[in-house]
Amino acid sequence: MQTWQSVPVPHVPGPPRPLRLYDTASREIRPTTPGQIATMYVCGITPYDATHLGHAATYLAFDLVHRVWLDNGHEVHYVQNVTDVDDPLLERAARDAADWVVLAMRETALFREDMEALRILPPREYIGAVEAIPEITEVVAKLLAGGVAYRVGDESYPDVYYDHAATQWFGSESNYDEPTMLALFAERGGDPDRPGKRHPLDPLLWRMARPGEPSWDSELGAGRPGWHVECSVIALNRLGMGFDVQGGGSDLIFPHHEYSAAHAEALTGQHPFARHYVHAGMIGLDGAKMSKSRGNLVFVSKLRGDGGGVDPMAVRLALLSGHYRTDREWTPALLEAATSRLADWRSALTAPAGPPAADTIARLRTHLSDDLDTQRALLAVDAWVSEARSGRGADPDAPGRLRAAVDALLGVSV
Ligand code: ZN
Repeated sequence: MQTWQSVPVPHVPGPPRPLRLYDTASREIRPTTPGQIATMYVCGITPYDATHLGHAATYLAFDLVHRVWLDNGHEVHYVQNVTDVDDPLLERAARDAADWVVLAMRETALFREDMEALRILPPREYIGAVEAIPEITEVVAKLLAGGVAYRVGDESYPDVYYDHAATQWFGSESNYDEPTMLALFAERGGDPDRPGKRHPLDPLLWRMARPGEPSWDSELGAGRPGWHVECSVIALNRLGMGFDVQGGGSDLIFPHHEYSAAHAEALTGQHPFARHYVHAGMIGLDGAKMSKSRGNLVFVSKLRGDGGGVDPMAVRLALLSGHYRTDREWTPALLEAATSRLADWRSALTAPAGPPAADTIARLRTHLSDDLDTQRALLAVDAWVSEARSGRGADPDAPGRLRAAVDALLGVSV
């Protein structure tokens, strides 16, 4: 699938700082240890609605990972998927009497525009579930042959399920106990009560075609893939086992990332699937998590589009003003503060001179390398801006140097 346009990332002089990130599986902040090519997979959207600020905050967090790795001289092999066939998409299309393919194409195009507006660096490979179906069916067939997947005993629809107890590693990503897993599985699209399964926690791998549903012919019979195996296969086939970072929102910790890892581990007999599991917090509005089911979404395209008129860089700064791992609120005051901060930064970073920038650039790097501490990174730039605006500093190269660092490391263009 076509990815979106990149923007140039300026080179920042001075020593970079290696990136440390919180890992959900080991529950600690640990150094990332990429080779020359750093590898990252971030779960993409299901394109049935426009990009809201919760999505934006997630992709922004991983954009910073991308940028800090680039600063450290790594190439970044970043893969993202688009779940362009799944129940929520088909349900929305049915509700609106729309063609699901057209709906998916339209919303994916809007997502690309939003990502470009927010200056989020694109993945090297942007892969739709539909285009990955031959890869997925091959893996599901192997899991069936290996006895870790099975068909439910339903003659009309012998769907394929994964035996969650197939490896000893199940649970090592989320660290959840079984009652928690069962509750989250039921809440987040699982089907614990489906008759014929070996265990309520076993997830769907391949859904046989029902009348009126899209399906693809394959060695498994006509049908379509489950969501977890989609990401598992797309990541595994491009990045291999033990890639550097598996990312997404914190609502993907379970079941999605646990099962994506489990499928790949059962297939290869190797562990771990990813070396870091990194999760972004949820963005709330009026005291509740921003989500489709609550209908309390703020769309990036509406904010920046006609009638909104908000500078996407202000949206970016507003989201960066909180730590990526914390659940936080979107408020008008947050956007106002970011708009005013952006104006201050613009004026100081485009001035003919300012205080020397080297220390500020070093602080930016230190804070970002420390589990993406954007709050302190922004304060470091604020301190320089405030000095510059009070007329101190006569270094003619400083504004341009810091402007390049803010662009490269924070992705904020002034
Ligand atoms: Zn995923």
